[in-house]
Amino acid sequence: MRLSELKNGQSAIIMKVNGYGGFRKRIMEMGFVRGKTVTPVLNAPLNDPIKYDIMGYEVSLRKSEAAMIEVFTEDDAAMAANSMNNGVTEENDMEKAYLKNGRNISIALVGNPNCGKTSLFNHLSGGHEHVGNYSGVTVESKNGSFKYKGYRFTVTDLPGTYALSAYSPEELYVRKHIIEKDPDVIINVVAASNIERNLYLTTELIDISHSLIIALNMYDELEASGAKLDYDQLGKMLGVPAIPIVAKNGKGLKELLDTVINVYEGKDDRVRHIHINHSSVIEQEIKNISSEMKASDDLPKYFPPRYWAIKLLEHDKEVSKLLSQCKNHEKWEIMADKASKNVERLLNEDIETALTDEKYGFISGALQETYVPAKQTANKKNSLIDRIVTHKWLGFPIFLLLMWLMFWATFNIGAYPQAWIEAGVAWLGDRLSGIMSDGMLKDLLVDGIIGGVGSVLVFLPQILILYLFISLMEDSGYMARAAFIMDKLMHKMGLHGKSFIPLIMGFGCNVPAIMATRTIESRSSRLITILINPFMSCSARLPVFIVLAGTFFPKQAGTALFLLYLLGAAVAVLTAKLLRRFVFGKDETPFVMELPPYRIPTAMATLRHMWDRSEQYLKKIGGVILIASIAVWFLSYFPRHDVPATMETPETVVETAGIAVAAGTDDRAPSSAATADGQENGEQYSYLDMLGRGIEPVLRPLGLNWKAGVALVAGIPAKEVVASTLGVLYNSEEEGAGLSGKLAASGDFTLPSAVAFMIFILLYCPCIATVSAIAHEAGSWKWGAFSVIYNTVVAWITAFIGMAATSLIV
Ligand code: GDP
Ligand code: MG
Repeated sequence: MRLSELKNGQSAIIMKVNGYGGFRKRIMEMGFVRGKTVTPVLNAPLNDPIKYDIMGYEVSLRKSEAAMIEVFTEDDAAMAANSMNNGVTEENDMEKAYLKNGRNISIALVGNPNCGKTSLFNHLSGGHEHVGNYSGVTVESKNGSFKYKGYRFTVTDLPGTYALSAYSPEELYVRKHIIEKDPDVIINVVAASNIERNLYLTTELIDISHSLIIALNMYDELEASGAKLDYDQLGKMLGVPAIPIVAKNGKGLKELLDTVINVYEGKDDRVRHIHINHSSVIEQEIKNISSEMKASDDLPKYFPPRYWAIKLLEHDKEVSKLLSQCKNHEKWEIMADKASKNVERLLNEDIETALTDEKYGFISGALQETYVPAKQTANKKNSLIDRIVTHKWLGFPIFLLLMWLMFWATFNIGAYPQAWIEAGVAWLGDRLSGIMSDGMLKDLLVDGIIGGVGSVLVFLPQILILYLFISLMEDSGYMARAAFIMDKLMHKMGLHGKSFIPLIMGFGCNVPAIMATRTIESRSSRLITILINPFMSCSARLPVFIVLAGTFFPKQAGTALFLLYLLGAAVAVLTAKLLRRFVFGKDETPFVMELPPYRIPTAMATLRHMWDRSEQYLKKIGGVILIASIAVWFLSYFPRHDVPATMETPETVVETAGIAVAAGTDDRAPSSAATADGQENGEQYSYLDMLGRGIEPVLRPLGLNWKAGVALVAGIPAKEVVASTLGVLYNSEEEGAGLSGKLAASGDFTLPSAVAFMIFILLYCPCIATVSAIAHEAGSWKWGAFSVIYNTVVAWITAFIGMAATSLIV
């Protein structure tokens, strides 16, 4: 009986929770686990959700969710008792009857043809089914039963299949069996001697089965061949226990059955529901369709929406038929059709091939870490490119070279379009100030909005180029290999190779980088990767570094920059270690790093990928940065002093070492005017000045004055603003040309304090967009607050050390 069918007040014992990973886990976390008694409190015919009493508290479940839970009722008990005791029913004996009858485990054997299913079946059930060394021997399913450790097992030997699509009658048959008979445990029989090919079916079973075990059959052959397999690790990575067996002589069958019992009882902690991550193009489409499906009530619950979405993308006719009862089915089909055409255009191959290749990429990723093939086949396994880019000695230099190329192109090629945008922004500001009459509105528009937003917009070309490289590396499949090379190193910091990609992306912008951590399955690893990401110096911090390094290390500016990036990375490593040690504890959840197939990225896909990222950047400009610019402008404008702010003309371009801070960026012109005059005439300071002076005591030990303080505060909305603020504040200096010259001439910075300043900018609290990304992705504002406080404290301490060290050396 199903839980949804119980009447008010009718108690029952939970037999089994059906459904897939995420859904099932949530239900079980709510307390709906095997053996617990549950009673509906409120279940009227039209009631949805239904209220239940379980373990003394009340929980609501949707009707469709309750339908996924099988229960054992008093009637069942009576019936069982009837058949056992010749009609003599004992009252209240539901518990006893449940214990007797609830210990039935149905097993389905699923595997490729010829992997030894029938041999295993015969051994388990004592049957004498025909065993043959050719495929197609088993055409129908055979059932057998046996007892072990007080459980009654029914085992079904299914036809051999290579996949679970709707291509062959065997495949359909097996899938139908899984849907209709819903076996308690599926044993995926895998021929260990041909593991890569056999695991393909496993990737399909992972999607749809809640209780899956891999029986690594023919383990004798694997051992004889000299190959080595870390099956325990493999099982942990897949979230599916893997047990070596030899079905021919019954070796390992006890362990297999013990595991079946444990998995059935929910006591095997290797069981985890994992996803096979596809390439971003496909993932995007899967997400679109599955989130559309999730919103619909009538989607069958026994497989996850993700599975349905993938099958629609694959044009699985049988699934289409199954889903045709859903009211939104037409719409999904249209979406899937469009999506698969889109994918085909972007990847330049049909979607079925793409999905299959990527599943094999998942398998080779899993085997790369766990499997050492026998000598004679070792070289065939990896492609030539893989052998080069993951080579022991060559891999790392190749990676560094690519990184260097990426940064070189970003900075050097990006400078040209940047100059154009700068000119455009200056022109716009110019035109507006020409047209509009003087007044607050003009100041707000020209200085505040165009100035503030413009100073950030000019970095769009750099961002685009950076993302061009990142997209190319990701889409071609290289990034996954880079993650592989870095895996060992990342493990030393308590992380995983998978964390590496988001960290590299952090050099562009921390916001999309933090979103990219979604592929990391382990929560603690993901959190750590998120929290250390801001230490990877993003491109917004670059302008001010270029100015300062150029000013104070004119000869070794490049080296100074490199050392800064290195310092950021070092702080990230240290933080990761500290977090692992003191906050999260060890995390042993291993997961598969997919080795996706190499593909030549199509122009379309790359453009789309770049656009997706840039869109986020533009949104940031239109949102946080716009608001922040207005706020900063406001703070620098009020309380307004009597002298009209006329000293700066908007077209003043603050030339800095190499990078021109846009004309429009003197958004705090009134402020500097006020300050310049205010200091001399004892007039009012702006709020921003007051803020800078307010925090000056904290910065004084680092040798920094209030102007640095203002720049740091102004940089909180967006780090780009640090440079532009300095440009404005130092514009009133008489001596020196360009910001660089003026900084040097001002005498405000000594070499040690300049070092402290750079380190502080590198490490201090992340920009608002990053903080909100952290809070959003980590699921709590607590972590956003943590990164603000922790990073700022670390910045101060490190800056102080840097200053002290520099003054010792100089
Ligand atoms: P099915 O098609 O999956 O049902 O596979 P069968 O049970 O018919 O077995 C196929 C062949 O593999 C037979 O010749 C078996 O004797 C052989 N076989 C099954 N299990 C093992 C094993 O553990 N080790 C070895 N070496 N051979 C096995
Ligand atoms: Mg067979």
